[in-house]
Amino acid sequence: MNWRWVAFIAAMCAVAGGVTAWVLHAPVVDHWAAVHTGTVNEPGPYYGFWSGFGSDLTELGIIGAIGTGVYQLFKKYNCHEPGCWRVGTHEMAGGQFHVCYRHHPDYDGARPTHELMVRLHEEHAQVQAALHEIRQHPIAKIGDEAHASASSEMP
Ligand SMILES: [Zn+2]
Repeated sequence: MNWRWVAFIAAMCAVAGGVTAWVLHAPVVDHWAAVHTGTVNEPGPYYGFWSGFGSDLTELGIIGAIGTGVYQLFKKYNCHEPGCWRVGTHEMAGGQFHVCYRHHPDYDGARPTHELMVRLHEEHAQVQAALHEIRQHPIAKIGDEAHASASSEMP
C-alpha cells in the first residue's frame, strides 16, 4: 500500500470536510474570518484589511524569500544522499555530488582516518604522475603537434 496516496486521500477528505462545514455554517465562519482579517467594524470597506491583515502580506513575502534562500543554501550544502541531514563536505564523482563521510564510498561509513587520508593522497599522486608520464610520451606530443598545426590552418 502506497502511504503517500493514503495521506493524499486523507488530506482531500479533510479539505472536503472543511469546505462542507464552512458552507453549512457560513455566517459563523465568515464572521470569524472577518474579525481575524480585520475587515469588520471599520470606517471603510477595506481600511481594516489593509491596516490589519493586508499589511502583513509584504512581510509574508519577505519571510517567504528568506525561507526560500535558506532552503536553497541547505540544498546546496546538504549531503546529496536522499534523506541524509549531514553537511556534504566530501566530493565524489568528479565534483558532481557532495556527500557526508558516512555516504562517501571511500570511507566505508566511518570518519576518514589519518592512514586512509595518506593512502588516498598517495594514490592520487600516483595517478597524477602516471598522467604526467603519458603526456610526455612521443605519441602524445605528435598528437599535440598535429592538433596545433590543424588549429593554425584555420582561417
Ligand atoms: Zn550523507
